[in-house]
Amino acid sequence: MNGLRHLALLYRNPGKPWTSEDLVPYLSHANGWLFDSLLFLSPQAANGRHFCADINRGTTMSGEGDFFAWCSPTPSARPDEEALLLHYVEALRAMDAAITICQDRLGGAPQNKRNAVVMIPYPHHSQSAWGELDGESLDFSVTNQNLDQATQRRLVAVRWYIDELVRRVRELELRNVHLLGVYWMYESLRYSWDVDDHWLLKELRPHLQEKGLKLVWIPFWSRFNVHQLDDYASYYFDAAFLQPNYMFYKSGKTVEQAARAARARGAGIEMEYYLQLDEPIAVGKERHARFREYLNGGVTYGYMRKSACAWFLGMDTFATMPTHQDPAERTFHADICRFVAGEYTFVPSSAVAPQTDRLAIAIDLGGTQLRSALVDGTGRVLRRHSIPTPSSPAAIVAAMRTAALALAGEGRVSGIGISTGGRVDPERGIVLDATALLPGWRDVPLASQLRSATGLSTFVDNDGHCAALAEQTFGAGRDCSDFVTLVLGTGLGGGVILADRLLRGVANAAGELGHLSVSADGPRCSCGNRGCVELWASGSGLARLATEAGMPMDAKALGLLARSNDPRAVAILREAGTKLGTAIAGLLHAFNPEKVVIGGAVVALGDLFLGAVQDTVTQRAMATARQSCTLVRSELQDAGLLGAAALVFAASSAT
Ligand SMILES: [Zn+2]
Repeated sequence: MNGLRHLALLYRNPGKPWTSEDLVPYLSHANGWLFDSLLFLSPQAANGRHFCADINRGTTMSGEGDFFAWCSPTPSARPDEEALLLHYVEALRAMDAAITICQDRLGGAPQNKRNAVVMIPYPHHSQSAWGELDGESLDFSVTNQNLDQATQRRLVAVRWYIDELVRRVRELELRNVHLLGVYWMYESLRYSWDVDDHWLLKELRPHLQEKGLKLVWIPFWSRFNVHQLDDYASYYFDAAFLQPNYMFYKSGKTVEQAARAARARGAGIEMEYYLQLDEPIAVGKERHARFREYLNGGVTYGYMRKSACAWFLGMDTFATMPTHQDPAERTFHADICRFVAGEYTFVPSSAVAPQTDRLAIAIDLGGTQLRSALVDGTGRVLRRHSIPTPSSPAAIVAAMRTAALALAGEGRVSGIGISTGGRVDPERGIVLDATALLPGWRDVPLASQLRSATGLSTFVDNDGHCAALAEQTFGAGRDCSDFVTLVLGTGLGGGVILADRLLRGVANAAGELGHLSVSADGPRCSCGNRGCVELWASGSGLARLATEAGMPMDAKALGLLARSNDPRAVAILREAGTKLGTAIAGLLHAFNPEKVVIGGAVVALGDLFLGAVQDTVTQRAMATARQSCTLVRSELQDAGLLGAAALVFAASSAT
């Protein structure tokens, strides 16, 4: 595709124009040409409206390693997009001039014309008043029209944007720049009751071909998106690059997995590096180790020379790398230049090794399963075992003892961590009491019993608290001092971390987030209160709602039914999501967290449910609390086990 091999992502919003001097560092380095293609993106308009509202929202039904950002209440409108077009026209003019500067410095033109790719603002389905076009006021929502009509109007706006872009770029008479194509911002394709991106892109296809433009896509990695990527051309993309997301997520995929997945699908890879972006892994050492794996992977798996690469380089900080005070950043800059030229050679990585010298036995007691595992210091689960939860407290303790002794022989173990339902005194390691899910589970001196049986230090805490500790140690809370964790399983549990400390309360009863009442006259809850959020937003709550609606089924079946657009199932999910959103709005007001991390099986219900959650929070939470908080999906598959292990590691690093 016109020599598209290395596409650099350049983020700047209208209001901060690109100049030719800004662009020179992307196009060339001291001794040669650099990125052959530049992708111009802008998250927001100068007035704060979003060009790509809720970009990753609901990317997957699997709940696998993805997140969803707040749905912007203010998607862009026509005047914002007019300003965006001007911004890009200026950027392309600056790029043209920058190439002339590079030519003068390097003494000649590059082999191919340099490519520009320009973002298309995402026509958001919550935009009901985008603006007028040809005498018609465009509404993208399904509030007052059906989905086909809404999609048609979204298409009209996108076509207008593309036509305007092409017309204005033609007027520039660029000498050195080829407008290669446009970029689809949304990192997942949406097909839902209110959005149909497949149809929109299908209809857009002939229009783009007529203009000679390619459509470029860089999907977020999730099981769902990889499935779409399987045949991305049939989704009307000309070029696609897979985001490994390895740089940002500890429990995510490896570079090797990403390389194989991309190669099998004929897609490119997104290289991911950043300097000052506020991302989960802020520790420079680990960032460096991980980026080294991306570079080495280009040699090992062949993508340096054999496929195209997109380059996420943080927010406009790449130009500072050649003269950065940290020599490692300067080395990486030189390595990027070599990589783009196809001349990078493998450099042994100082990657953080699996901490197999730090092992914990983790036990997770739930109402249905008693799970045990050996976990290392990086949060890898090395061995695991699961049995149905025994019926009596004595049998549970005996089963825990058997599991711990079996795992204790596997290596040098620092201790045993136990996550259990119920209220726990963690200092004495005693289970105080529990709900009906664990009958008779009260006044159990769990820590001392396990310690005397195994000789290992043993730590016990409540499952909601453990989930929060798991997020703090291994998950989305790693770089976050204030956050709330919600776990939506059979019930709704959670934990609150404030100023890096777990909030336990004076009687170890803090964090009973499932029992926040969201309806004073609601149904009676087992806790004695009425209208607790758990009665809606949990597996048991959804099953209850389904039964009341005359279609008895579990949450998973309900989710499947909702996906087939069954209006009763959709209504139940939205009701449950609204109740959870109401509770979260209260949590935002109480704690002002930086994140709310949502995990548990119910999260797999995806879009419909989580969309209602975030819509409700957007409507109900005060702006300050809402704007400083991100709602994220848990990255962790084994929060209970990892939280139990975290108890051990926290204790061993404190001594
Ligand atoms: Zn309750």
